Amino acid sequence: KRPVPRRDFSGTGQLRCGHHVPLLANISDAAGARAAAEVKAEGIGLFRTELWYLGSVEEPSLEDQVASYTEVFAAAPKGRIVVRTLDAGSDKPLPFMKMGHESNPALGVRGYRMNRKFPDILNRQLDAIAQAQRETGANVHVMAPMISTVAEANEFVDACRARGIAHAGVMVEVPSSALRAGQILASADFASIGTNDLSQYTMGADRLLGMLADLADPWHPAVLDLIDATCRGGAQQDRPVGVCGEAAADPALAVVLVGLGVSTLSMTPRSIPDVAAALSAVTLAEAREAAGVALAATGARSARQAVRDRLEVLTELG
Ligand code: PEP
Ligand code: MG
Repeated sequence: KRPVPRRDFSGTGQLRCGHHVPLLANISDAAGARAAAEVKAEGIGLFRTELWYLGSVEEPSLEDQVASYTEVFAAAPKGRIVVRTLDAGSDKPLPFMKMGHESNPALGVRGYRMNRKFPDILNRQLDAIAQAQRETGANVHVMAPMISTVAEANEFVDACRARGIAHAGVMVEVPSSALRAGQILASADFASIGTNDLSQYTMGADRLLGMLADLADPWHPAVLDLIDATCRGGAQQDRPVGVCGEAAADPALAVVLVGLGVSTLSMTPRSIPDVAAALSAVTLAEAREAAGVALAATGARSARQAVRDRLEVLTELG
């Protein structure tokens, strides 16, 4: 058994065999960007912009938006900064983007779909991000949440390109985009899997309902199948696929994700040292073995247990 070192981990994700998996931070403001820099994250993998707007009754002006992005970009650690465009609706209602009554808000006009009703808001946000990028010279990537079709991905990529945004990606949060990742990644530069929503939509279980937490669990082999499909689509197009949902912060699941072909993991900054420690204990071949074990399981609980047992044989991780 190999001991898992617990100390002295910066944000560098490196497997025992030397394979590098950048560990990035999830943030929602400049304080988060500073926390990410403190743990030496290799960049920002998810900047949730909507949290800023939650308290505003009106859409912030273009100037205010540019100032806010500039502040966050300046505070962030070196490396890429993946900004997610507004993910409003459903569990994140915004006062200035009212949709009226929807019977099923999680299946309604949310995420990128808001663009159907409020295209100017997304356009202004992209203008502000592009301007802050020019002013700071930061390595900005932009991605859209809840992309469910190839057409939506193409439309978003075109909107980014029109503003000189060089890295335009999509979030994979619904099964349709996981299954069609190869076609989506023909135009998008990268994909980032939002495992919180992907679990919810794969299992048909509300992520906010504690009673269904055993269903909305990213360890379900059906969810892992879709992550596998997304990685295959990425490999087909030679495009990177990351994970930015809670799953990336679970050390054993992080090993499985890397084994499935995920190339970056983004998580809350405080989880980075534990995930770095877990990755450092295994080789890529062992991570692939762990992924195979998880995919072969019949449920979330047995997948988690089987991987823990396998990793325990190898390391003190189990
Ligand atoms: C996700 O769905 O996994 C995700 C990262 O986005 P959010 O949690 O903000 O919906
Ligand atoms: Mg989501």
